[in-house]
Amino acid sequence: MDEKQNNLDQAHLDFISTVSHELRTPLTSIRGFADTLLTSYERLTPEQREKFLNIIKDQSNRLINLVENLLTVSKMQSDKELMIYKSIEVPPFVDACVQMIKNQYKTHKYVVNYEKNLPKIMVDTDKFQQILLNLIDNASKYSPENSTVWISVSQNYSENTVILSVKDEGIGIAQEDINKIFNKFSRIDSPLTRKIQGNGLGLFITKTLVEKMNGEICVESSEKGSEFKVIFKSATPEDDGKKAIC
Ligand code: ADP
Repeated sequence: MDEKQNNLDQAHLDFISTVSHELRTPLTSIRGFADTLLTSYERLTPEQREKFLNIIKDQSNRLINLVENLLTVSKMQSDKELMIYKSIEVPPFVDACVQMIKNQYKTHKYVVNYEKNLPKIMVDTDKFQQILLNLIDNASKYSPENSTVWISVSQNYSENTVILSVKDEGIGIAQEDINKIFNKFSRIDSPLTRKIQGNGLGLFITKTLVEKMNGEICVESSEKGSEFKVIFKSATPEDDGKKAIC
């Protein structure tokens, strides 16, 4: 067997082992709390029952997110994935995503700012929405309650680009970790991140999707918070109303 095949096999084995671990943790917790509810139902107070049922619900959601992310990764890595490009105005998409995230993070404030006369961009709308949701969700979950998330869309006239920025007042990312966060299953291990649920696939998916659509993603971070920027080429007037399937 050649070295390339060996590396591929090892990468597959590592992937299966990581996924199995990610699946086992929530499943063990679901089974444990379901068991306790079944065997000790009468002895538990209503508060304890509710607490255990909420854990089961949270862990099930964690599994659903993981499986959805894994399906996205597998689709992204097969060449068969279809991209349906359309030229779109960015603000309505940002508004819709902020609205969705707001329902989950009731105490966060979201400040949205759009430069006037923004050009359109050519993107696959589902994938663009996934990028927005991942970044706004991360900005919310890695920042404290009652903090603010700023989302802005501006343009760079000389480069003909549209810049989307998502900025938070959260825990920040250490300089030495910044290059790792876009890798598959990469989570920064610290007492602060350990309390926050995730599977380390969101930014890998986000970066892959941005680059598939010929965009760029970058991040700046300090102990005061992080700012992620996504940059797309402006659509040309000829793109308007055009649909491209690749
Ligand atoms: P996860 O599911 O762990 O959130 P991501 O791929 O979205 O996975 O992010 C990878 C890691 O990058 C996270 O585990 C976290 O450590 C770090 N990270 C991502 N976004 C932020 C942010 N806005 N602020 C601080 N850390 C972040």
